[in-house]
Amino acid sequence: MGRDHLTLIKSNFRKTTLIYSSMQIFRLFKYLALSILICFFVGCSQRKNSPSEKDNSEKAYFTLDDFKSVEKIDAHVHVNTEQTSLIQQAEEDNFRLLTINWDDVNDPPPMEIQQEFAIHQLKAFPERIAYATTISIKNFNNDDWQEQTIAYLKNSFAQGAVAVKIYKVIGMSLRDKNGNLVMIDDPRFDGIIDFIVKNNIPIVGHLGEPKNCWLPVEKMTIKGDKSYFHDHPEYHMYLHPEFPSYEAQIDARDRMLEKHPDLKFIGAHLGSLEWSIDELAKRLDKFPNMTVDMAARIPHFQYQAKTNWQGVHDFLIKYQDRLLYATDIVTNGTEDPSVLKKDAHDRWLSDWKFFATDETMQASEVEGEFKGLKLPRDVIHNLYRKNAEKLFFGDRKTKR
Ligand SMILES: [Zn+2]
Repeated sequence: MGRDHLTLIKSNFRKTTLIYSSMQIFRLFKYLALSILICFFVGCSQRKNSPSEKDNSEKAYFTLDDFKSVEKIDAHVHVNTEQTSLIQQAEEDNFRLLTINWDDVNDPPPMEIQQEFAIHQLKAFPERIAYATTISIKNFNNDDWQEQTIAYLKNSFAQGAVAVKIYKVIGMSLRDKNGNLVMIDDPRFDGIIDFIVKNNIPIVGHLGEPKNCWLPVEKMTIKGDKSYFHDHPEYHMYLHPEFPSYEAQIDARDRMLEKHPDLKFIGAHLGSLEWSIDELAKRLDKFPNMTVDMAARIPHFQYQAKTNWQGVHDFLIKYQDRLLYATDIVTNGTEDPSVLKKDAHDRWLSDWKFFATDETMQASEVEGEFKGLKLPRDVIHNLYRKNAEKLFFGDRKTKR
């Protein structure tokens, strides 16, 4: 209560003493004070608990309990099996899945077998799953490689593939006839990319690796990368300076995008720009047809949120139309179904907590605590469903 109110009450009190008895004055004062108090509290409570305002603020955000009721898409998984455990868990948790084929002779099963699994699951769960085919680099140095690749893609599209994966082997292990590493901006890819664009099919490109791969282990940001590259020195590029640098990988990808402005390109794993929301923002500004998936890189958002919560929060809001929720969960049918289901559920729920709530939390790959981003509902719908729906699930019927 302010000083002016007290002065007014005191002066009113002095005037009334001339007319009323002391008892009447006491009652009047008590009544007046009580009225002021009631007005004050009623006013305050109306301001705080106005029903419409409360409803609106609750409607603006989801809670942890909304996890199952909201339709979601995980835009990067690998279902390399006819087993259905992961798809069952997706049904329980209200997810659709994009399963992605890859081509790497050192990482079986072969892409043709992966495609068989994908088509099998697509037939069994047409509403639940979509698949991305891939291109083979096995016979890259043969004269008919381009023709063979286009024939394979035609067949994949006819069977329902909605995207094409290109894999990091391009840039990191594929060599030409002279033994030189082949980067993704090599002109031999142009005819194939043009064919994919003509079919209005997006490319999911995993090119390069996280920047941590080119750093010494002690300078890496997240625990997952530290242990992975410690255990796999053969893939730790810091130890292999004879291979292209991180920047060379990113530049080759960018030059390929410059050559193909109509290509709908999804940069897998935050487009290998996971280490900096500012660098990622620059690429999204430069390439309007570029989207990125978050597969296996959400810990990098969490790591940055530890010191720049507002920056990560605002980045996700600004680029809400250009980001896809994704995990990179892999199943090859050898896992214990109940363990696989629980792991998938825990992962999906933990990520939901990070994006939808502002709870303080921890994650296995990040040291220390960080706070959830509490993104508005509309943003969650875009990240979790609408963007992926437009790219992969929209007009599947017309393609078949
Ligand atoms: Zn993957």
